Amino acid sequence: GTGRRTLVAGNWKMNLNHLEAIALVQKVAYDLKPDELERVETVLFPPFIDMRSVQTTIDGDKLALGYGAQDLSPFDSGAHTGDVGGPMLARLGCTYVIVGHSERRTDHHETDAVVAAKAAAAYRNGLTPIVCIGEHEDVRVAGTHVEHCLAQLDGSLAGVTPKQAETIVIAYEPVWAIGTGRTASAQDAQDMCAAVRGRLATLFTPEIAAGIRVLYGGSVKAANAAELFTMPDVDGGLVGGASLVAEEFTAIVRSGP
Ligand code: PEP
Repeated sequence: GTGRRTLVAGNWKMNLNHLEAIALVQKVAYDLKPDELERVETVLFPPFIDMRSVQTTIDGDKLALGYGAQDLSPFDSGAHTGDVGGPMLARLGCTYVIVGHSERRTDHHETDAVVAAKAAAAYRNGLTPIVCIGEHEDVRVAGTHVEHCLAQLDGSLAGVTPKQAETIVIAYEPVWAIGTGRTASAQDAQDMCAAVRGRLATLFTPEIAAGIRVLYGGSVKAANAAELFTMPDVDGGLVGGASLVAEEFTAIVRSGP
């Protein structure tokens, strides 16, 4: 993207045992040099149970590698068995939190209103939300993907103030491209990310929209990252499967302009 620092986010999802998680963060941390992390902001999203070990590795060496959570509760504390709240994540040094990932929208029936409440919870606790939107294949085939995603964006950003929007990150992830090996073409990714930025300009201001990072996600790998990341409105990637292999993930980070 133009003038915006590339962001590469590695979403480990519900993978790895604890030792594998420690090994992966160590490899990534060892491999990426300070100048590379300066150029491309790099953030890991381990499962909650690995977060403390990831924190220890990264903060112990004061590395410029970020880490965040794959989800959070819309509530800050209380009787919400099994959930993890924003204050817990902030206390642990998380900087970002993914909200509205399509897998949560499907597995946990999260609506745009729930996603908006989670984004609000993130901001309330000093965390930056990465808000995910994206269409299923039938919507893409019907040709209504732009309207669909912009409606999702409106709903998921309900209540976000212009000041908060200055730091928000949006991830466009076509559901048919997630974990399928079918990447959207760089042009398709660009077209949607540009449409998202256009809507952000309407929701907030053109100046704010020009500063917001819009990521692409969906089978990003080392072989396609550079082409995607050089598109003018694509400011980096949300990476699932390829973030589980250290060499592949660091190659994606190095693909950032
Ligand atoms: C994701 O988890 O957001 C994702 C895009 O997954 P994958 O890279 O495996 O398609």
